[in-house]
This record gives sequence, C-alpha cells and structure tokens, in this order.
Amino acid sequence: MRAMVLTRPRQGLREADLPRPKPGPGQVLVRIRACAVCRTDLHVLDGELKGPKLPLVPGHEIVGQIVECGASARRFAAGARIGIPWLGWTCGECAFCRSGRENLCGQARFTGYTLDGGYAEFAVADQRYCFPLPDLYSDAEAAPLLCAGLIGYRSLLKAGDAKRIGLYGFGAAAHIVAQVARHQGRQVYAFTRPGDQEAQLFARELGAVWAGDSDHPPPERLDAAIVFAPVGRLVLEALRAVDKGGRVVCGGIHMSEIPTFPYELLWGERSVCSVANLTRRDGEEFLALAPKVPVHTTVQKFPLAAANEALGRLREGKLTGAAALIPGEN
Ligand SMILES: [Zn+2]
Ligand SMILES: [Zn+2]
Repeated sequence: MRAMVLTRPRQGLREADLPRPKPGPGQVLVRIRACAVCRTDLHVLDGELKGPKLPLVPGHEIVGQIVECGASARRFAAGARIGIPWLGWTCGECAFCRSGRENLCGQARFTGYTLDGGYAEFAVADQRYCFPLPDLYSDAEAAPLLCAGLIGYRSLLKAGDAKRIGLYGFGAAAHIVAQVARHQGRQVYAFTRPGDQEAQLFARELGAVWAGDSDHPPPERLDAAIVFAPVGRLVLEALRAVDKGGRVVCGGIHMSEIPTFPYELLWGERSVCSVANLTRRDGEEFLALAPKVPVHTTVQKFPLAAANEALGRLREGKLTGAAALIPGEN
C-alpha cells in the first residue's frame, strides 16, 4: 500500500487553536501561504528515498509569512515573506561545506524529508537557509521557484554553455528552466511522454524551438540534455541525442534503473552527471535572476486538504506546470 498524506478537516477551528510548532533560538515560525508539490514528495511517500523522519510533514517549496522569530533569529522581521527550500541545515564544518558544496554535506537535513515541511498551516525553519522572495510573484507563483526553479537552475549550470539543450520531462522544473535557457540565448528542445500533445504545446508556448516524444530523436544533435523525468531509460535516449562532447545531466533525486548500454553511447567524450540538492548560493543567484528573465510560473492551486489529489495528478503527468497547496482554501 502506498503512503498517503494525512489531512484533517479544520472546520470550526479558530486559527489560534491550530497546532503550531515553537521556533528554536535560530529559527523562524511561518504561517504557510503556499507550498508547491514536487516529484521528490512522491519519492519520499513511495519509500524510494530511505530514512525519512517519521511521522513526517512533506513539502519543501514553502512560501510563508513570519509570525514569530526565535530568541537569536534577527535576519528577518516578523511579517516578512520568506521562502523555505529543500536544504534545511548543514554542518558547516565538513570538507564539502567548507568548499562551497554544502549541497553534498553528509549530515545535511532536508525540509519535508528529514525535517517537517510545508503540507501544513505552520512550519519552523532555520533562518540561515531561508530566502527573501522577489515581489513580482504571488505566494502560489513563488512556491515552485523554491525547488523546481532552484534545482532546475543548478542543472542548467551543470549543462555548461550548451547552445542546443534538451529537457526530458516537461513538468514544473522544465517549464521554468526553458524560460531561463531561452533568456540566455539557448535553443530548447522539449521531450515529453509519447503523445502528450498538451505538454508539447505548452513547451512551444514557453519558447522551445522543438517539442516531441521522448522516444524519438530530435531533428538535430544537442549539446546537452537535462533529464527531469525519473525514468532511467531516458538517460540513454538523452545520450543518443547529444553530440560528441555532450553532457547529460540527471536533475532528479531518484530514478528507475538505468538499463545497461553499449559503450559507444558514451564514447566521443560524452558524460553523464547528477545534480544533488542545492546550495544557498544557487538560491540567491536564481531568485535574483528569475524576475529579470522574467520567469513566469504556471501554477495550479489546490486546497491543503486536497494534497493527495495534487500528488495523484503529478504522478499521472496530468499537471501543466506546477501544483501548489494553499492552506485555508476550500
Ligand atoms: Zn557539512
Ligand atoms: Zn523538490
């Protein structure tokens, strides 16, 4: 049986009666305004990511308004709107943390996985890992920037200066990355589930020069590809699609097994790499860039109590852009 998000009806409860965690000294307590739904949430619920905190509140793309600051939390004022991302804490002392690679910290804690997250009315977070958010975006529009946007941006950095770039899986992350890539003068080739005309049309609307089925080759060789869909065989499709020297970036935290493949697919100095988590620097860079592009997020809103419906639509590929849960909406 699959795990589910437990939601309780809140009718008749005054806000003051809602359970709210207490912020620790360096933490802030936020009232959640929106929390976007990410593929990683499904991997956690499905048990594909090991060792979650249990019981767990999932969700790591949180937009919230600060209602209380801990005793030593002075970075933000009460009332400020902030974003809480996946990276929730790092040790600050290991070789990775000290070399600008806190995303690889072995002791890192993650929002909605090893820390309680944003499928809730309130959340606490270490103030050092939160971000101020650009005013351009509403709460729901800002939420998907916090993982789909950030991880997508880190994936794009890994793709180097590739001019022709393929995006495999045109969901929340790709719909943001496509806009950034186009802004940077790159050509985007979008690959969707075979026959998903709607997603292909959506990709073209966002500036993709070509959109087609993921099991078909693009009309020309690509310089790099990012695989967002959690499907191992797409790594091979992407290797077939990239030119010599091309790089295939795996942007997800989990994917099905990558089938064995002949060496000639990798030959020609092609490479495959993954992207793990994010650094605070990625967040700062991307959140400064997004309003300049400007990135427009397409967000489907769901009441918090409909979390399982939103997750189900994501699983079935029936979302256009991103989904966000909105507490207090019916
Ligand atoms: Zn560390
Ligand atoms: Zn995510």
